[in-house]
Amino acid sequence: MNIHEYQAKEILKQNGVAIQEGIVAYSPDEAVEAAKKLQKETGTGWWVLKAQVHAGGRGKGGGVKLAKNLDEVKEIASNMIGMQLVTHQTGPAGKKVRKILVAQDVYYPGPSQKEEFYMSILLNRKTGHHTIMYSPEGGMDIEQVAEQKPDRIFREEIDPGNGILPFQARKIAFNLGLSGNAFKEMTRFIFALYKAYSSVDASLVEINPVLKTTDDKILAVDAKFNLDDNALFRHPELLEMRDLDEEDPTEVEAARHNLNFVKLDGNVGCMVNGAGLAMATMDIIKLSGGEPANFLDVGGGASAETVEAGLKLILNDPAVKAVLINIFGGIVRCDRVANGVVEAYKKLGNINVPVIVRLQGTNAEEGKKVIDASGLKVRSAITLQEAALLVKEVV
Ligand code: GDP
Ligand code: MN
Repeated sequence: MNIHEYQAKEILKQNGVAIQEGIVAYSPDEAVEAAKKLQKETGTGWWVLKAQVHAGGRGKGGGVKLAKNLDEVKEIASNMIGMQLVTHQTGPAGKKVRKILVAQDVYYPGPSQKEEFYMSILLNRKTGHHTIMYSPEGGMDIEQVAEQKPDRIFREEIDPGNGILPFQARKIAFNLGLSGNAFKEMTRFIFALYKAYSSVDASLVEINPVLKTTDDKILAVDAKFNLDDNALFRHPELLEMRDLDEEDPTEVEAARHNLNFVKLDGNVGCMVNGAGLAMATMDIIKLSGGEPANFLDVGGGASAETVEAGLKLILNDPAVKAVLINIFGGIVRCDRVANGVVEAYKKLGNINVPVIVRLQGTNAEEGKKVIDASGLKVRSAITLQEAALLVKEVV
């Protein structure tokens, strides 16, 4: 699961990571109110307004803007909220901005030079450790640094049993070229960041940039977390951070019914139980001259509800010219699946593409009878070859 920058910063703050302070706003008026509240704390008295979408590269796409007075806050917020933000991570259609983060401007002038670093912690499955990846070249795309200056990216392996050891935090601060108070602040920052990362069972936390301010504070200016879905049951408070507006609606609907759904480009929708059988079914569709419109594994216990939900997802796609349902009755009985298909078919109504059902295994014959007797446009077949022939006929 992914979360927004403002939510990520909340998690960081709770764990003692120093952040660029900000307040989320859903309207230009809220943005002005937020700016007023933040005013006293800032160095320049300016603000930076940041589009909250699940995508990086916002700065280059016009999703991060500096405002020097309250009128500018209002004007920029009016333009940003509701805009379709396009960055290299959103695809050409972009993402709709529904809220913004009004943050204090932390790039103020001061006694020393400001510096931007890159820092992330990620799960290293190969070594069974956590890896802290960091670079003195922050602010820009880390992919670009990796390509052009690979020697400027450093790695530190953390044994999850020990956590970060003090010498490791010092080594990182040293490699980032820090000294004095900034050095001390950085070691504190690293310990707190690791604590935040572990406490939410993240598989990635990425801070780009980590800023050394001109008065030697170390702040997280941007923040991104990838949370481990399989650990979310341990964190009900994180589940509340989920923003369904940012996710693909078809996949959200599929997940709601515990279906594994992947959209593809073809014209034959398919619903199968078991991932292996689903792959084989897609092959058969191709061999008979069709192209699969999706991958859909309904899992072991295909009930009438899952069949209905699956059929709905498939038929949502206007490209679908035929549907092939391929169920192997192992644990589940074919006549029950057949009844589920008939029920779903009646309930959905208005289905004007042929639906071919292939049932094999326990009670397959009874299942076929149910389909044939239903009087619906559903066609039954038992062997995969028969099903393939029917698919060939209709595409
Ligand atoms: P991203 O483009 O989606 O990664 O968004 P970031 O949060 O990283 O912001 C992009 C860039 O905006 C940063 O790299 C900074 O250069 C700039 N920026 C962020 N906060 C401030 C700020 O408080 N003041 C100024 N002047 N620039 C900022
Ligand atoms: Mn960034």
